[in-house]
Amino acid sequence: AKLDGRNTYRFFTPEMRAQSLRALQLENALRRALERNELQLHYQPQVRIRTGRVHSVEALLRWNHPKLGAISPAEFIPVAEDTGQILQIGEWVLRSAVQQLRDWRAAGLTDLKVAVNLSAIQFHQPQLPDLISQILDASCVPPEALELELTEGVAVDDPRAATATMDQLRARGVRLSIDDFGTGYSSLSQLKRFQIYKLKIDQSFVQDLDHDGNDRAIVSAIIRMAQALGMQTTAEGVETEAQLQFLRDMGCDEAQGYYFSRPLPPDELLQFLQSRQVP
Ligand code: C2E
Ligand code: CA
Ligand code: CA
Ligand code: CA
Repeated sequence: AKLDGRNTYRFFTPEMRAQSLRALQLENALRRALERNELQLHYQPQVRIRTGRVHSVEALLRWNHPKLGAISPAEFIPVAEDTGQILQIGEWVLRSAVQQLRDWRAAGLTDLKVAVNLSAIQFHQPQLPDLISQILDASCVPPEALELELTEGVAVDDPRAATATMDQLRARGVRLSIDDFGTGYSSLSQLKRFQIYKLKIDQSFVQDLDHDGNDRAIVSAIIRMAQALGMQTTAEGVETEAQLQFLRDMGCDEAQGYYFSRPLPPDELLQFLQSRQVP
């Protein structure tokens, strides 16, 4: 509802004012961030629970501003989505992650894959499939080495359009994952139609596995459902041996979290992988 001018001030609390000033500040700073090389990607391993091997890593944005310091993607991605800056940033993320993957593959990690987070705004761009093919072709990385992480939200408004886009992306050979699974609204029939490769179980269900029977029930149900539909499962936010043990017992395929490693800059990730496994 729109407020009339007279009443507006009542609803614009000092807290809201501070929030919108911060958003404006971030918006202005973001405009320069790409030119000034302030954005970086860190990478977090996704570990096969049965073998302990790492088949893929997730790219996660890091922004270090000279004056504002480190700003979390949880804070600046929503700002970039509001302003449309996410398109330019998202394209930079795709290019950088694919180039990095090419370098790692050339350095001997020949089967490694990379997962990239896609904003719903990127997902709804009609040019997205062409952009992705072009980026992959330019670096000679095979499409199946790229996983795109989407949230359940992309399908809410217009499931038919979403299905069409997913079909197009899959036709290019890339793999689709559903991020933060369990927190959104996707139905089982949608999941089946989307031909999703991997479900990433949201960390909110993983956190309390040790003492919350409901979370254990939810996680084991997700894993069984994914298995029945032929999808892989990755548990996010795994921090303890007990969580890992439960996930192993339930037949979860992969685990990702601080128990194995924080997201690392590229050189440290390479060291991590080389110390763990012969390529
Ligand atoms: P996400 O995609 O769900 O990423 C997982 C988040 O959990 C990351 O936070 C990661 O650092 C954190 N994490 C990993 N393991 C653990 C753990 O064991 N315990 C805990 N407590 N946390 C863990 P991060 O890097 O701060 O990213 C936050 C969110 O920002 C991401 O959530 C994603 O939604 C968004 N994001 C990050 N990079 C990108 C990007 O390149 N593009 C887009 N569109 N969004 C991004
Ligand atoms: Ca993700
Ligand atoms: Ca997630
Ligand atoms: Ca998340």
